Amino acid sequence: MKKKEMSENSIQKISIVIPAFNEGGSLEELNSKILQVLSILPFDYEIIYIDDGSTDNSFAILEKLYQENQKIKVIRFRKNFGKSAALSAGFQEASGDLIITLDADLQDEPNEIPNLLAKIDEGYDLVSGWKKERKDSLVKRISSWIFNQTASKLLGLKLHDFNCGLKIYRREVVKNIEVYGELHRFLPALAYQQGFKVGELKIKHNPRKFGKSKYGLLGLRRLNNYLLDIINVFLLTKYAKKPLHFFGGIGLFLFFIGFSINVYLTGLKILTGSLQNRYPFLMLGILLVIVGIQLISLGLLGEIIIQSGFKREKKHYITQKLKR
Ligand code: UDP
Ligand code: MG
Repeated sequence: MKKKEMSENSIQKISIVIPAFNEGGSLEELNSKILQVLSILPFDYEIIYIDDGSTDNSFAILEKLYQENQKIKVIRFRKNFGKSAALSAGFQEASGDLIITLDADLQDEPNEIPNLLAKIDEGYDLVSGWKKERKDSLVKRISSWIFNQTASKLLGLKLHDFNCGLKIYRREVVKNIEVYGELHRFLPALAYQQGFKVGELKIKHNPRKFGKSKYGLLGLRRLNNYLLDIINVFLLTKYAKKPLHFFGGIGLFLFFIGFSINVYLTGLKILTGSLQNRYPFLMLGILLVIVGIQLISLGLLGEIIIQSGFKREKKHYITQKLKR
């Protein structure tokens, strides 16, 4: 990439953010590969390693890398807080105009960095890697497929590979979006919902050489959690700001059905003088009316909670200022 092309967007510095949990075997090789790639790029850089409470020699190696290179920063967690927390800490520390995340296990290829830079220069705010040919077990590939399909359908952002460690972000994106729990997989969806432009780039994927996957081989528990996370993000992004639309919508629907049943039964009683053993139906009608009202109230309560917290909330929208 030529300096001129990117300088239009005033990109001066890139931050590489790498979460590592017991990756002692990979770190040195990874670091020298990254430095090699960065040395041919025209940008200033920093590499931020987050040791997510490793119990192997990861931290000792990071300390050594830190001593060798001024541009390397190291953050250490006292215990294992998970990849989302590690990324979040890295994002907070990052001072680059562009932030690139990379797994520490050498499965993501540092040589893809120039391609990511070229892609984001096409006008994206976030570009997510897509491991087209995954070097992972069959079970993991299947569970990932189910996850990606469901996430794409529910979250409105079609991506082949939400769970790719290799991603590039413009600074505004990481400074405006919070990651916690296991929500790092949904950064593209969260960014998209905030109005950022999200793209996808096919990347090379390597098999794991050292250490083992932190999420277990079977991936079933993982899939289960993923699906719950999708529901969480779905509700968060679509309805957290408008709970009445979600709960009230379902509530109103149920109330209407229940109400119609009761009107019908009232008519029956008036016309024929008896309910003609339609008592179960009566129960259903009453139940639906009650549940419907409950749900509408729940939605209203949600609205009240949002209203009262509104002023305290740090930021509910993202703005952009024109610069001269
Ligand atoms: N990781 C982390 N904290 C954790 C689990 C994982 O920082 O609690 C890091 C891990 O060191 C690696 C990346 O997140 O750099 C992806 O983890 P892994 O390779 O185990 O996931 P997989 O490739 O199997 O999806
Ligand atoms: Mg991996």
